[in-house]
Amino acid sequence: MENDKKEYYRKKLLELKKQLINSLKEKYEDAKTLEEPSGRDIADEAYDLYTKTLMLGKVETDALKLRLVEQALQRLDADTYGVCIECEDKIDEKRLEYVPFARYCTECKSELEKSGKIKM
Ligand SMILES: [Zn+2]
Repeated sequence: MENDKKEYYRKKLLELKKQLINSLKEKYEDAKTLEEPSGRDIADEAYDLYTKTLMLGKVETDALKLRLVEQALQRLDADTYGVCIECEDKIDEKRLEYVPFARYCTECKSELEKSGKIKM
């Protein structure tokens, strides 16, 4: 991949990383405020628990994304960025535009998803 393209994706990835870290921080803060006991009834408790579970699910997704972004940055440094880690084909640049942290080409991704090996 050409250097100017690599810089373009690096910028995108770093921007995404910043966003993910901010959103993770916010969610941790939100989850913390839900911990505070304030003598509510059982319905409130149940609702909070429900909200917290949803929030933690989102946190998990963001944390996973953040890890993928980190890995993509490492692949940029190792000069293996934009190459499918399964079949070593080039990943479609249109796909990298939307998912700059993509590890797989479209075909491998749908194969792996079908067999339940990956979530993202
Ligand atoms: Zn592939």
